[in-house]
Amino acid sequence: MGLLAIVRLRCPCCLKGNVFRSLWRMHDECPECGVSFEREPGFYYGAMYFSYGIGLALAAPVSILLFLKGFSEPIIFLVVIAQLAIVSPLLFRYSRVAWMHFDQRFDPR
Ligand SMILES: [Zn+2]
Repeated sequence: MGLLAIVRLRCPCCLKGNVFRSLWRMHDECPECGVSFEREPGFYYGAMYFSYGIGLALAAPVSILLFLKGFSEPIIFLVVIAQLAIVSPLLFRYSRVAWMHFDQRFDPR
């Protein structure tokens, strides 16, 4: 699991090919090594765990800080929703690539 390859959103097999071809769209196969990025139907359900973890890691410190500063719960809720909406492209991309690398690590092909 190449941490740098995850940061750079690269293929879990060759660590070179770009996983994404645009902000929201992935390549079907790695442009470098040709490995399929969708191993099986529903493969990306596993990415939800990473999305949840990354989202929690982003939202929790902000929520706690706002709570300690005395903001009301509805305001904290709105700030966290806005924060997660703004970072959603990054959350989507990094949760998928982190899942792909995790899967490759524990179930290599
Ligand atoms: Zn590749």
